[in-house]
Amino acid sequence: MAPQHDPPKTLRAGLQPRPLVDVSGLQEAIARFARERDWEPFHSPKNLAMALTGEVGELVELFQWLTEDASRGVARDPGTARRVRDEIADVLVYLVRLAAVLEVDLDEAVRSKLATNARKYPIEKSRGNANKSTGP
Ligand SMILES: [Mg+2]
Repeated sequence: MAPQHDPPKTLRAGLQPRPLVDVSGLQEAIARFARERDWEPFHSPKNLAMALTGEVGELVELFQWLTEDASRGVARDPGTARRVRDEIADVLVYLVRLAAVLEVDLDEAVRSKLATNARKYPIEKSRGNANKSTGP
């Protein structure tokens, strides 16, 4: 006879599992921002993906030529802290807008990808090993 397992606490309590990603407020704010400026026609997936890439480049530039140790301090360094926050915000805004325009449910997408990654990188084979799997 198979062992009995208790159902997850959220099911026992009749609760919905807590979302991993809830950007609904941010999506609404970005949509309003674009609508008020009549920028929606410019928010094609192509343009948003390109803008996202540009913002990632601006973020990466802050780390260029730094040592590993120095890179750990950029968010605390008075000379770069504000820019790090600004560029991370820019990346998030364009990523969230791109997902909205493409009708990608970020919570579902992240849950699915985390499950895929957990199968791809089992703990017993991956612990302490930064090498990427070459498998499917
Ligand atoms: Mg920027």
